Amino acid sequence: MESSSEDVTTAPAVRDAPAPAVATPPTSLSPSRAGDFMQCPLLYRFRVIDRLPEKPSPAATKGTLVHAVLERLFDAPAAERTAPRAKSLIPGQWDRLRESRPELTELFADDPEGERLAGWLTEAEGLVERWFSLEDPTRLEPAERELFVETELDSGLRLRGIIDRVDVAPTGEVRIVDYKTGKAPRPEYAEGALFQMKFYALVVWRLKQVVPRRLQLVYLGSGDVLTYDPVLADLERVERKLLALWEAIRQATETGDWRPRPTKLCGWCDHREHCPEFGGTPPPYPLPVRSAGAGADGPPPARAPESGTGPQGRMGPD
Ligand code: SF4
Repeated sequence: MESSSEDVTTAPAVRDAPAPAVATPPTSLSPSRAGDFMQCPLLYRFRVIDRLPEKPSPAATKGTLVHAVLERLFDAPAAERTAPRAKSLIPGQWDRLRESRPELTELFADDPEGERLAGWLTEAEGLVERWFSLEDPTRLEPAERELFVETELDSGLRLRGIIDRVDVAPTGEVRIVDYKTGKAPRPEYAEGALFQMKFYALVVWRLKQVVPRRLQLVYLGSGDVLTYDPVLADLERVERKLLALWEAIRQATETGDWRPRPTKLCGWCDHREHCPEFGGTPPPYPLPVRSAGAGADGPPPARAPESGTGPQGRMGPD
């Protein structure tokens, strides 16, 4: 197994497959995109169906950078996985990131003196350093890092994602770890934060027939660790929830009825100019829709199941 996170970057451009030339109906679900639909069906449409471009954000990019550093640090022998070593990886990983995604140079295009960039890199250093107060990488040997996982449920729904880190104990117990560069959610939003982890646990269970012993969210922004020990009933519940979600997505895809759901997370949304809630107009729907006659007897407009993600939701920095 291996690990990574979909979450570093909740925006679709970084980790999802390249956009097809022609719009096609969605064929699989990842935690981020499931979160998008639960947050706002129209946002899901803009990201998955229309594939509207999104500007890179400093916060999400910093998350990507920090994840890359934490992943690469495990290349070093255990005794050398120190905070100074990790911080020394930042410039090289930032170069590598810019090479692979030239659009990131836009982030600091208006910063000729490099002051903002320097501050941003210092913040990344702080996040990396904080990790050492939460975990001790000299005592960890991940079984997997940045693991792409994919499985197909009996219903045909494909689930996919990237897990940051998978640890496997000598006894075979599996721990799934995800790094977040934001702050831990308030307790009332913890369930939403754990949704992504239960999603991964479900995929691992389906792939390996092993229920992960522990799910662990490491919040570098606030220095918190949130853990949950799932049982099979949790995974069965999340599977039922995902099937309901997928049915709602299927209906919306067929009818073209993607309702906006405004929340305070709209402040993070790159698509306000296309959103009716902000006086905008969505682009023409690029997929065929069910005929008007069929609509009378068809199902009601798709409603996104409640996410419970709260303000910890998918669009802000993770
Ligand atoms: S601005 Fe808000 S309501 Fe509109 S698409 Fe974005 S998230 Fe949805």
